Amino acid sequence: MRRITGATIVAGVAGSPVTHSLSPLIHNAWLDAAGIDGVYVPFQPAGDRFDRFVEGLRGGAVRGINVTIPFKEVALSMADEVSKRAHDAAAANVLVFEPDGTIVADNTDGVGLLGAMKAQAPGFEIAAGPIALLGAGGAARGAAAALVTAGAPEVRILNRTLAKAEAVAGALGGGVKACPLSAAPEAFKGVTAVINATSAGLSGEGTLDAPLELTPETAVVMDMVYKPLLTPFLKQAQDLGRRTVDGLEMLIRQAVPSFETFYGRTPPELDVRALALGVLGEGR
Ligand code: NDP
Repeated sequence: MRRITGATIVAGVAGSPVTHSLSPLIHNAWLDAAGIDGVYVPFQPAGDRFDRFVEGLRGGAVRGINVTIPFKEVALSMADEVSKRAHDAAAANVLVFEPDGTIVADNTDGVGLLGAMKAQAPGFEIAAGPIALLGAGGAARGAAAALVTAGAPEVRILNRTLAKAEAVAGALGGGVKACPLSAAPEAFKGVTAVINATSAGLSGEGTLDAPLELTPETAVVMDMVYKPLLTPFLKQAQDLGRRTVDGLEMLIRQAVPSFETFYGRTPPELDVRALALGVLGEGR
């Protein structure tokens, strides 16, 4: 068993809710396997107190945190230094607390998204056609920026609150279009992929009513939500015969650069997907 010592490096994940997060499982399994004197813990600051929570970490008592729903935008606004990919995403899923008090923001969601697409939809070409992205929160911003950078000719952002989709489109420029969720029948035409980056479906709450049957048969369907692994959205896609990509693969792949940042080395070879599937109650 790993021992907590006076030199233990502390990192974690902050979100609200955070209890569903599998990040502690993944990072602690890597720490165990690598024999690193570190620990990774969940934090659930009050919704309106995230800024105070982060201010309290300034100075490096905690090495860094991943940031999840709904704090990614405010996390970015609190940083003193911002990586290009966090800047482009206008959202941060990693904050690092330097000993001199500096807070550095990064965004690894795009790395996770692209890595998951490559692993579970081999041969999928980002540049081959328009991609529909559902949601305009922190995760969607990171995804949209990564897709544009990777060469997507058009990203159609569909969101319940149109103004938020317009803000993302405005920040990312020409190839990104904003539509209300109700415009899905039109927006799904001719897409190469549909990606759910809304929190609908999280722990089975309020599912998304998306007309996936209007997508081309070759379209890839991805859901960032990973609990349950086969969300109603992915189940609908599978029933239609579409190729699917799950949120667990993205979670694991975005965790790799976070781990490297917090603990200073690449995660060890370990089948964390199998571990996570065990916790989710899914077979392999
Ligand atoms: P935010 O709270 O920033 O954004 C939530 C988004 O979901 C908004 O666009 C919101 O629309 C939309 N939404 C919420 N409920 C509904 C609903 N019932 N119907 C339609 N739209 C809805 O969250 P994040 O962007 O940080 O995260 C979004 C999801 O992605 C979460 O489930 C998160 O767990 C998951 N995620 C997974 C990752 C992974 O690695 N697998 C990485 C990052 C995120 P509106 O603007 O109208 O409120």
